[in-house]
Amino acid sequence: MDVFTAIYFAALIIEMIIRAPLNRKRKQEKMSERRVIGQEVVILVLLLLGGFILPIIYAATNWLAFANYSLPTWAGWLGVLILAGGLFIFWRAHADLGLNWSPSLEIRENHELITRGIYGAIRHPMYASQWLVAIAQPLLLQNWIAGFANLLVFVPFYLLRVQAEEQLMIEKFGDQYQAYMQKVGAVLPKF
Ligand code: SAH
Repeated sequence: MDVFTAIYFAALIIEMIIRAPLNRKRKQEKMSERRVIGQEVVILVLLLLGGFILPIIYAATNWLAFANYSLPTWAGWLGVLILAGGLFIFWRAHADLGLNWSPSLEIRENHELITRGIYGAIRHPMYASQWLVAIAQPLLLQNWIAGFANLLVFVPFYLLRVQAEEQLMIEKFGDQYQAYMQKVGAVLPKF
């Protein structure tokens, strides 16, 4: 395995470590509303395929070798830089969102609208971090299939999810969320 592939998998492990304690704690939370968007299960399976299964196949077998390409070393390091930025945002988002985080669209009984910390800069830092990982992936996993699959799946996931999530947040927090949307950008800060 080359160094950039190893770094990609190290990042996945770091993400799991960041998420694990929250995942454990939130099991005790009472939820007041759960909304599954129709295509969600299909999309989650595809995200797993693009972000994890295809990269494993790329790293552990030569089945995808026909689709390899080779970039100059600096491009790999640029990928590492983008990935590190993604991990930093991922970590801050979990720290700031705390128990309001959930893997699907859920509102807990004591749900609090977070607009502080990194949520004061962008509304969707976790999705922003997923964007950065997906953009770094073709620089790190230099293969047309394992490199780009995640990005291909993430674009429709992002569009569907954000729309459904913001609708839910507006139903729950009304004008407060509308005002937040006016002030703070989705994945890029407003200047
Ligand atoms: N879109 C956010 C959060 C993803 S986790 C991000 O990218 O960082 C998804 C859950 O977070 C949803 O169940 C939603 O109810 C909740 N959520 C999203 N934005 C929130 C906010 N500003 N404050 C509190 N909860 C939020």
